Amino acid sequence: GSTAHVRVRIGPLTSRFMLILALDQTRERQVEAIRRDFVANVSHELKTPVGAINLLAEAVSEARDEPEAVVRFAARMQSESERLNRLVQQIIDLARLQNDQISENAVVVKVDELVSEACEHSLTESESKGIAIVRDVEPDLLVHGDRGQLHAAVSNLVENAVAYSPEGSRVAVTARLGDGAVRITVADNGIGIPETELERIFERFYRVDPARARATGGTGLGLSIVKHVAASNNGSVEVWSEPGAGSTFTLVLPQHRLDMEEEIA
Ligand code: ADP
Repeated sequence: GSTAHVRVRIGPLTSRFMLILALDQTRERQVEAIRRDFVANVSHELKTPVGAINLLAEAVSEARDEPEAVVRFAARMQSESERLNRLVQQIIDLARLQNDQISENAVVVKVDELVSEACEHSLTESESKGIAIVRDVEPDLLVHGDRGQLHAAVSNLVENAVAYSPEGSRVAVTARLGDGAVRITVADNGIGIPETELERIFERFYRVDPARARATGGTGLGLSIVKHVAASNNGSVEVWSEPGAGSTFTLVLPQHRLDMEEEIA
């Protein structure tokens, strides 16, 4: 009778509710585990360059009568401290992005400026490897977002393209409109990424080849920043890659159209 009726209607609802609760608990545990891993990783990653700088400082003071050795140690100290600096900056970027919330600092951003600044950011690296960064940007494209975040995202993509490409190769950065969205694409002819790794590369501290990434000064945080920037700016990231042939990353952002009275900051 009525009991069966009630059971039929509430039963599935209740079990669905419980399922959601159970999932939530799992998710909470997952978030907690991710946080714990992150703290452990951060500590480890920060201690490595700090330890190296410390050892190098000791070596310098012991080698003060050998100018050549001092110069060599000093150069390594500089590269370790640059790595440390990048790491700290990326950890700060990531901490700010953690909630994937739309930034309160969203402004109108010119895509051509965004691309120029990102290419500029990797100029020293690209020039020292003889890599030409070729730009092809549709004029007058606008997006609406956090300038600093967007700059960090595009810069990270260009930085990676240069880092994982052979000397004398080309990196192409394009921006155009496709399906009503702005598509900023960074394409290289570098080492590429195996298909099985494509999802994992967006995880924090994940590197396909840790030894190589360390040699290039990689932190394993760049792409997770790109992913969170996309999420925080109503966008997405696409990746295509073929080992040995190259990689293409695309940051997709909603196109912004100016209102009559709106100004570009
Ligand atoms: P990293 O600082 O190590 O470059 P990222 O988060 O930016 O960290 O990238 C994660 C990993 O993805 C890299 O270590 C590298 O293995 C791979 N990767 C990223 N971009 C490229 C690229 N353009 N070509 C080849 N591999 C790449």
